[in-house]
Amino acid sequence: MRRYHIHLFIAFLFVQFSFAQTPSRTGASDILLDMERLSVLGSVLYFAAHPDDENTKLIAYLAAERKVRTAYLSLTRGDGGQNLIGTEQGIELGLIRTQELLQARKIDRGEQYFTSAFDFGFSKTFDETFSFWKKQDVLREAVWIIRKLQPDVIITRFPPDERGGHGHHQASAILAHEAFNAAADPNAFPEQLRLVKPWRAKRLLWNTANFMRMQGEPNNQLKIDIGQFNPLIGQSYGEISAQSRSQHKSQGFGSASSNGRAIESFEHVDGEKASDDLFDGIDLSWGRVPQGDAVQTMVRQLIDQFNPAAPQASISQLAQIWRAVQRIDNSYWKQVKTKEVEDLLLACAGIRIESVTTNRRIVERELIRFTTEVVVRNPNSAVKIVSVDKQMLGQLLKYNEPVQIESRMVYETITQPYWLQKPNSLGKFEVDDKYFGYPTNPDLPAADIQLEISGIPIQLRLPIQYRYVDPVRGEVHEHIQVVPSLTASTAARSLLIAPGKSQSLSVTFEKQGAGEEVKDVTVVLSSKGWKVSPEKLTLRFEKGQKTLVRTLDISNLSGAAEDATLTFICEEKKLKSIRQISYDHIPSQTWFPDVSVELKGLSLINPVKRVGYIMGAGDLIPEALRQLGTTVDILEISKINKQILSSYDAIVFGVRVLNVSPHVADKLPIVLDYARDGGVVVMQYNVNSRLQTTEFAPRPFDISRSRVTEEDADVVFLDPTDPALNYPNKITAADFDGWVQERGLYFAENVDPAYRTPLTMHDRNEPPHTGSLLIAPVGKGKFVYTSLSFFRQLPAGIPGATRLFVNLLAKEK
Ligand SMILES: [Zn+2]
Repeated sequence: MRRYHIHLFIAFLFVQFSFAQTPSRTGASDILLDMERLSVLGSVLYFAAHPDDENTKLIAYLAAERKVRTAYLSLTRGDGGQNLIGTEQGIELGLIRTQELLQARKIDRGEQYFTSAFDFGFSKTFDETFSFWKKQDVLREAVWIIRKLQPDVIITRFPPDERGGHGHHQASAILAHEAFNAAADPNAFPEQLRLVKPWRAKRLLWNTANFMRMQGEPNNQLKIDIGQFNPLIGQSYGEISAQSRSQHKSQGFGSASSNGRAIESFEHVDGEKASDDLFDGIDLSWGRVPQGDAVQTMVRQLIDQFNPAAPQASISQLAQIWRAVQRIDNSYWKQVKTKEVEDLLLACAGIRIESVTTNRRIVERELIRFTTEVVVRNPNSAVKIVSVDKQMLGQLLKYNEPVQIESRMVYETITQPYWLQKPNSLGKFEVDDKYFGYPTNPDLPAADIQLEISGIPIQLRLPIQYRYVDPVRGEVHEHIQVVPSLTASTAARSLLIAPGKSQSLSVTFEKQGAGEEVKDVTVVLSSKGWKVSPEKLTLRFEKGQKTLVRTLDISNLSGAAEDATLTFICEEKKLKSIRQISYDHIPSQTWFPDVSVELKGLSLINPVKRVGYIMGAGDLIPEALRQLGTTVDILEISKINKQILSSYDAIVFGVRVLNVSPHVADKLPIVLDYARDGGVVVMQYNVNSRLQTTEFAPRPFDISRSRVTEEDADVVFLDPTDPALNYPNKITAADFDGWVQERGLYFAENVDPAYRTPLTMHDRNEPPHTGSLLIAPVGKGKFVYTSLSFFRQLPAGIPGATRLFVNLLAKEK
């Protein structure tokens, strides 16, 4: 068992360096840049907490100006952030932001790594962060990544104290420092030493910044200019950085480019202090490895003799360098540089190779048929395709004559992202050791291909791609999806059912394979006090039939019913659904959550019949309100008028409407008139930057950055008799139980006395804040501004938050 484990580990180590497609940049200037990088032996690890924390300008500068291996370790996938481009939250937002980071790294030439820490939302202290993250486990992963990447320099984005702001930021700096030392200590995580060696980086630095309180001690700092222009790329690092940073589209981080001097500052933290340069005292040449000097000379000649009009003329020199690299006595640099030389060989021969299939989805354990297409586009390149998977070919490839090889394989499991294969805790994904650090699954269905270029064997592992042409986007490549044979989706993910009442739930079952099929499904409830009927379903799919819809009847039997979870079992496994996330700036993402419906008891009086919803950045409140029997229409703000609004009991603004809607300034007066005529207007949170209008409320207040991030923070009723806490539902302290992630964000401050502020709350060790809920009469109606995170609570089916929200929507008596 142990041996097997080690074997897998080694296999994955190998894959780490080869699980890439053929180089995407094969132009002569890119080849020359990569040849220059081949002559440099150095490595830097940038260390922070979230996608978007990293300094993209510095990464671009290190990778292309200093030409060192440059990696960013983001401890989390940014699951807890906000989403400015859609409604995905939590795990799905993490999937989007993982891909945004990978897109950013494609542009700035860095590499990307992660740990299994979960971004559970804003946190004010590192203590709170560590209580969620299982600090020792995250440290173990960080140490593994350091030992594997052997960075000469480790750079943190943040300081280890409150100056870092977010508790995750502070925690990232603390972990970086501990990992810096632990990686060098053979007694720390000794189980890793079967595969990697202890590694001491030369120094640890903090990359200070001119924002917030992160300037550090300016007199003591190392300063370097990173504002240069790279003639091989045709851009300055300020321009590359802006493109890279603008990939964080879900965070609204579109950035302007910059040119000219750009001074970056670094404060010494540990290791040998640098006085002039990040790499003081570090030999970045081939001289750092035994037998390296000979390689240095060869690489120098390679660069000097490179002919951009005929890159293939460099192939024989690259073949010699490859052989010389095999003789160096340093396993780390041998591995890294072998891969670089092989990529250059592929690029110089102008090789394009990929394995593609015409099916986007394939059922697990069914045959995957794919075609490997290879073409050598530079003349006089001696390229042989030796094998594809176990098929021996030994075929010499002719200049510019594409060759297609048909193959087939069977993949045993579904292509669930590895960090979602086991249930996660609130603070951490459960991840097998073999996956440590990877941005995405390293073991997707892939073709193993062996090529030979001028006698040099090159082993490639190409993930099988679904390739198609989109009329707008052009040729699109996606990884194929291996899916369960039966999937399902439910009309709701949570149901609030009053004691003694029943509700129906529609379930759509989808057969993914071809042919007739009969499937038996059992419906399972996690606790007593609830009943579902029927409990067993037999699904008969006729030939050609893809879906079957069934309706379940769910009853809350007793007043004291506990919450329950409803799941489905088919062939002894939990039934899963397929969720696909598609945006133009990232490859489409698919994952397979268990089909489950949260059942909660709820006593609710809901007099609100019709709501008009004006979307902001995107949230799922409309669907949650529909579950309560309220009709919700999504209104296009540019088209609203008095008459349209008059048919609604309430008008609700989605989150961040003031930040994203260009029409809001024009149309707000109409909405406030609607309130004066007796309507109810509820506006959810906005942020204070890029407000489309500053006059967004009937009476003034400011929007601050204050939040209450502890989801269980005490809530005090300043005025228990306030109508919002009494009609139509009596709100008590119990209604603030079970909230998720946070209480609220971007609270109101300097509030005009015309508003009632019935609630006050605060995080530990902070003063009470009254800016979570503001209510003011307007003419015959009311205006409500709320920073409470209803957009998280309602879709999660939190009963108390739902009752309070209905009160806010209801006309006051
Ligand atoms: Zn951050």
